[in-house]
Amino acid sequence: MSDHSESKSLPRQVSRRGFLKTGVAAAAMGVMGAIAAPSKIANATVSTLNYTPEKGQWSKLRPTPNYGGASVRFVEQNDQWLGTSKIVGPIKKGSEYESGFTLALQGKLGEKARWGFISFNKRYPLTDGIGFAIGTISHDDICIGVPNPEKLPIPDPEQMSQHMKDVAYYLRADEVGIGKMPSYAYYRGKMVPPQGLFPAGIVPPDAPISEIPNTEPDLPYVIAFAVEQHLETYLASNGYDGISACQSFRSYHATANIAVIMARYIRSLGYNARAHHFGNYDLAIPPVLIACGMGELSRTGDCVAHPKMGFRNKCAAVTTDLPLAPDKPIDFGLLDFCRVCKKCAENCPSQAISFETDLVEQNGYLRWDSDMKKCAAFRAGNDEGVSCGRCIKVCPWNSKEDSWFHEAGLWIGSKGEAASTLLRSIDDMFGYGTEEIPQYKWWLEWPELYKISIPSK
Ligand code: SF4
Ligand code: SF4
Repeated sequence: MSDHSESKSLPRQVSRRGFLKTGVAAAAMGVMGAIAAPSKIANATVSTLNYTPEKGQWSKLRPTPNYGGASVRFVEQNDQWLGTSKIVGPIKKGSEYESGFTLALQGKLGEKARWGFISFNKRYPLTDGIGFAIGTISHDDICIGVPNPEKLPIPDPEQMSQHMKDVAYYLRADEVGIGKMPSYAYYRGKMVPPQGLFPAGIVPPDAPISEIPNTEPDLPYVIAFAVEQHLETYLASNGYDGISACQSFRSYHATANIAVIMARYIRSLGYNARAHHFGNYDLAIPPVLIACGMGELSRTGDCVAHPKMGFRNKCAAVTTDLPLAPDKPIDFGLLDFCRVCKKCAENCPSQAISFETDLVEQNGYLRWDSDMKKCAAFRAGNDEGVSCGRCIKVCPWNSKEDSWFHEAGLWIGSKGEAASTLLRSIDDMFGYGTEEIPQYKWWLEWPELYKISIPSK
């Protein structure tokens, strides 16, 4: 593990007001005017992407997008591209049995990671409260169900799409998208029992784990929702504390609730619908988010970053055959930006994130060569806290404040390589991402609990 002590109590090197007074902002704005459209996508050229003027249906509750000021374009989805991710060969379906925390549960990432994940909730009591609530809605019979035999006629899929987004926003989602479901995003295998039951203590830690083939029907559409992790809490935390897992669980719980409610609602309208959330997945979330226009693949590997939230959010989804009009994937220049930024790699305590400049082919698509097994092992077995989240905190796309200045920064960031370097420098100048702001620290720490149940070997 890398030494994290330096990051503690880092002062903000320049205040925002001070920065503006120096006139550097004016210089930045000058640069903005001189910056052209994105130069190139690593290993591919933007010109081979097909752009489209429309996102899809906006909702009545969110009539205009909230991209934090970033410059966003919409991409046609086809068999060679998923958003800005280039598909170069057949993509094999994955299995829930092979996902990071599931490998930890099976002991394939070491005993420390196994017991670390089993005791994940118990090691910080607030995580236990939220994690238990997730566990109670993780059973198959909550996520899956039979539709009402009487179908509601849907004469206008666009109107229904708008309605489904309104329902999700009403249920307190922060972002919603609808996608054409990529068939390769469905898992070929499922884990039994579902992973969410283990840390919740709903099944015993030594319960046998098996993989069964996924025989659920492939449904053509997917609705995805994101709920933000709490910004001020991130500003005060450092990844070596008890609150980190709570941050994830807060958003996992919120999105799981939305998914379960929406799936049941759609089934009551007479259509098939399956809720997928942290406790029980039948699909890989990252391609779903891209298909739904909710972000691009980032340097962290398979994590998808949103133009306003970065990846300071957690997501869930509902797959369905309800007639819907899908949105388009988005391009806000993240591939160019990640190529020069590397801030997450510099701050990752497990060295899971690649420093390479170019993408590599893995399983038929181009992505950064990051190792999410290292991440899962570290997060499950972090005995100086519970989980981590430093990459989430430091990413410049994680909007730190709603101000014209930050929006300008994000606009710069979506305008190519030179601009990306500028935004990264501005982010560093504020000490953004590595700061710890004591007045936002509201939670109780329980460091004496962290090491409970994690064997040292
Ligand atoms: Fe690295 Fe922590 Fe992010 Fe995992 S969560 S990739 S260990 S910084
Ligand atoms: Fe990309 Fe930088 Fe965010 Fe990492 S921190 S995902 S390199 S923008």
